[in-house]
Amino acid sequence: MDDLKGKLLDVSMPITRDMTVYKNREEKRPQLEVLSNPRTGVTESVLHLYLHTGTHVDVPLHMIPGGDDIAGYNLNDMVTPCKVLDFTGIQEMVTITELKEKEIEKDDFILLKTGNSFRSIHNNIFNYDFVYLEKSGAEYLVRQGIKGVGIDSLGIERNQPGHPTHKILFNNKVIIMEGLLLKDVKEGLYTMFAAPLKIPGAEASPVRVLLSPRII
Ligand SMILES: [Zn+2]
Repeated sequence: MDDLKGKLLDVSMPITRDMTVYKNREEKRPQLEVLSNPRTGVTESVLHLYLHTGTHVDVPLHMIPGGDDIAGYNLNDMVTPCKVLDFTGIQEMVTITELKEKEIEKDDFILLKTGNSFRSIHNNIFNYDFVYLEKSGAEYLVRQGIKGVGIDSLGIERNQPGHPTHKILFNNKVIIMEGLLLKDVKEGLYTMFAAPLKIPGAEASPVRVLLSPRII
């Protein structure tokens, strides 16, 4: 592990009041309430944070009543080898056609790098036309037997009535990661270190995601 020093890529969004939030909705803006006691000099703050703001993990309970919650997940599924796939040339959506051109195998954790990395997520203004994982792409990933998929937008799908991409993935226990910053990450093989908070009963959690050259 010693030689990882300086090689870790932090692909998580800073949590600030003016960060990009889904559809620019006010209630999704985080607020750090700094509680300082002037008498003792001690600070103990409260963070008001919507669980789907910033870089986060979604699990089945998000859309499937009675589905698995975030605390039930095995961290071995998120501290894991992963593959960053470059789809920056795609304008609208990632479908089975584009995915078939890449090597995707059982138990892969796939991170989709799209044009979003250069637009929506970095400029503090939500891009309604973000590139997303289309339903046929989700079905293909499930067939390949992947354990997780992440994307560089605050949603993994848009404009699909009934949220089929989420549901196809959740019904097959595929972990979804949203809000990744992949601008400076090249396509390739990495080891991912991601640990969502252990919140029993929650359908999502903020997560710090780090990528290193592949070591496991
Ligand atoms: Zn979410």
